[in-house]
Amino acid sequence: MNYDVIIVGAGSVGVPTAMALAELGIKPLVIDMHPSPGQGENKHAIGGIRATHSTPGKILVCSRSLEIFAGWQQLYGDNIEWLQGGYVYPVYRPEDEQMLKGLLPVQKKYGLKIDYVEPRQIKALIPGINPAGLRGGVVSPDDGSISPLLSVNAFYKRALELGATFHFKEKITQILCDKSKVVGVATEKGRYETEVVVDAAGPFSLELGKTVDVDLPVIPDSHEGAITEPVQSFFECMVVDIRPAPGSKNYYFYQNKHGQVIFCITPDPPIIGKDKRETSIFLPQVCSRMVQLLPRLKNLRVRRTWRGLYPMTPDGSPLVGWNRQVKGLLHASGMCGQGLMLAPGVSEVVARMIAGQATEDDKIITKEFSPYRKFEEEEALK
Ligand SMILES: Cc1cc2nc3c(=O)[nH]c(=O)nc-3n(C[C@H](O)[C@H](O)[C@H](O)COP(=O)(O)OP(=O)(O)OC[C@H]3O[C@@H](n4cnc5c(N)ncnc54)[C@H](O)[C@@H]3O)c2cc1C
Repeated sequence: MNYDVIIVGAGSVGVPTAMALAELGIKPLVIDMHPSPGQGENKHAIGGIRATHSTPGKILVCSRSLEIFAGWQQLYGDNIEWLQGGYVYPVYRPEDEQMLKGLLPVQKKYGLKIDYVEPRQIKALIPGINPAGLRGGVVSPDDGSISPLLSVNAFYKRALELGATFHFKEKITQILCDKSKVVGVATEKGRYETEVVVDAAGPFSLELGKTVDVDLPVIPDSHEGAITEPVQSFFECMVVDIRPAPGSKNYYFYQNKHGQVIFCITPDPPIIGKDKRETSIFLPQVCSRMVQLLPRLKNLRVRRTWRGLYPMTPDGSPLVGWNRQVKGLLHASGMCGQGLMLAPGVSEVVARMIAGQATEDDKIITKEFSPYRKFEEEEALK
C-alpha cells in the first residue's frame, strides 16, 4: 500500500498530527505497537496544559494548543474535561521571584495574560497555602488541564472522520530508504510505501532513528505521578512549586473535575532509562513537600500511583524538523514533560511543513525546535 505520509506512533503527538494532516486533505497512515491510541506516554501525563513558558516558540505553540483544547467541546461536542483553572507559581525565594519576573516581558510580548501578584492573591487562589515566607507569585489564568485519555480519543475520532487510517498492534522495525531518501517503513507484519515518515515515536525516537543511522538526542527518563480519592473542590489552579529539595526539583498538582488531586515531581538527579515500575521513594518524597506547602492536603488518601517516561532532550525543548541526512523523515519528538500541551500546536506546524504552508510564526517555532540547534541553553520552565 502507498500512503502520502506515515506517522510512527499514535500518542500525544501522532494522533493530533494525523488529524491536522487530514484537515489539510493529506490522509496519513498511523502505526502504533500498542492496541489503541495514547497507550505510550500519553496516558501517564497528569493533564496540565499551559502556555506559560520562557521562549517564543513554546509560547506560540502552546497558546494554539490551549485554544484547541479550550474550544474543543463547543466545536466537536466531546467532553475532554477542559478546566481553565490557571497555573500558579507561588514564590518563597528571592531568586525565584527575580527569575519569574525576568520572564514576564517575553511572555507578555507573545500574548500571555500573566502577572506577578501579591501574597494575598496567591492565598485566595490556593486557600490554606503556607503563608510563612510567601513573597507572591506568578498567575497565568488562561492555562488549565484536560483528561489525556479523553482528549487523545477525541482527536482520534476526528482523525478517523477526516480519513486518516490507524494500524494498531504493529511495530515499525525499520524506516526504508533508497539513496538516503525515505521510501517506506517495514513492520513486523509487512511493508508500506511512502515518501514522508513523521517520527512521533516519543521515547522510542532514538531507536527509530537508529534504523537509518540517525542519532537523535532523545533520552527517556522516568517520572512518577499519583491521584487521590475525590473530594469537594477546594482549589482550581495547577500549583507549581519550583523550589528544589534534596532528591527533587519542582513538583506540581491540581484538583481535577472529579475532585481528585493529581500530582507529580521531577527527580534530581534524573532517573535515566525506560523502567516504569513504581518506586517506594516517590510518594513520601512528594507528599511531604505538598503537605508542607498546603497543609490541608494531609487528610487526602492516595488512590493510585504510576510511572512513565519523558522523552527528554538536552535543553528541555522538543525536536521538530526535517532530518538533513534522510530526505522525507520529519521529527516531531523529544516533547520532554510537555508533550500533551505542545502536541496540538506542534501537530499543526508539522502538517503545514508537509503541505508546504509554513507561516511566519512557524519559522520562529521551527528555528527554536530545530533538531540541529546547539542545545546550549536550558528552557527556564522546562
Ligand atoms: C508522570 C508524568 C506526568 C506528565 N504530565 C504532563 C502534563 O501534565 N502535561 C504535559 O504536557 N505532559 C506531561 N507529561 C509528558 C507527556 O506524557 C509526554 O511528553 C508525551 O506523552 C509525549 O508524547 P509523544 O507523542 O512524543 O509520545 P507517546 O505519547 O509515548 O507516543 C509515542 C507512541 O509511539 C509508539 N511507537 C514508538 N515507536 C514505535 C515503533 N517503532 N512502532 C510502532 N509504534 C511505536 C508508542 O507505542 C507510543 O504510543 C507527563 C509525563 C509523565 C510521565
